[in-house]
Amino acid sequence: MTYAYFNETFLPIEEVRISPLDRGFLFGDSVYEVIPVYEKKPFLFEEHILRLKRSLEETRISRPKQWENLEEIIGKLVELNRAINQSIYAQISRGVDINRSHIAEEDIEPTLFIMSSDLTLNPYRCENNIEGIKVSLQEDPRWKRCDIKATTLLPNIIALNEAVSSGSQDVIFYRNQEVTEGASSNIFLVFQGEVFTPPQSKNILTGVTRNHVINLLKDLNLTISERVIYIEDLFKAEEIWLTSSTKEIQPVSEINKKKLSVRSPEKALWRRVLENFHN
Ligand code: PMP
Repeated sequence: MTYAYFNETFLPIEEVRISPLDRGFLFGDSVYEVIPVYEKKPFLFEEHILRLKRSLEETRISRPKQWENLEEIIGKLVELNRAINQSIYAQISRGVDINRSHIAEEDIEPTLFIMSSDLTLNPYRCENNIEGIKVSLQEDPRWKRCDIKATTLLPNIIALNEAVSSGSQDVIFYRNQEVTEGASSNIFLVFQGEVFTPPQSKNILTGVTRNHVINLLKDLNLTISERVIYIEDLFKAEEIWLTSSTKEIQPVSEINKKKLSVRSPEKALWRRVLENFHN
């Protein structure tokens, strides 16, 4: 049985009932966070909570009344669910309104919903005979506030479906020739031994994993610069990585059906970063 948390209660996920008047359901008026849990311990928990706080502030959704107890609630949910490695999904919507109106009633309470699913460990952790991810490039169809972790993911879903139906596994977005990020990940590339990633802006989500990887690179005395990456840079790169809380760090080996001449896992920088990921 899989447990979730809803309405101040822990209950089997099948028993959760969300109102059709919840603004998350009607408008996508909600934000979320995904927190990986390894051996029952949430990873980079504070960083995720800080980003959730920022998403709430940017959307002016109030903090739920359980805000100060989130760590305890998530800890209990992790214990209730069997898997040792889990992915915690926490969503906060503006709440249930009495009417469907763009402007919300002032006194509504935000809805907090948290669930857990089993986390499949990153297959690139130890496999040497595994190919990198095949991606396709797409013009970024999203809005101008990609820095907010909003649940309105329809553009990402359409883009991913299109990529998968054309034989790719993931998408890399660009705007005006500038690479932004993946459909659910940030991007890094290695060129002449140095590592580059697009700077923080409203066009990308500042990934918790992105920041963790930047810190790891600094600890490893590798050169990391935040600068604009152009489409043409991708085809000159020695390595391209996608990072996210569930992917950790994974290499790209093909873009738009063109195989990249990338380093083997044993010699690649991403492997070094991955080996230090949980230290
Ligand atoms: N960009 C987008 C669009 C994402 O959906 C995600 C994953 N939620 C990321 C980047 C990576 O963020 P994180 O490392 O915090 O999981």
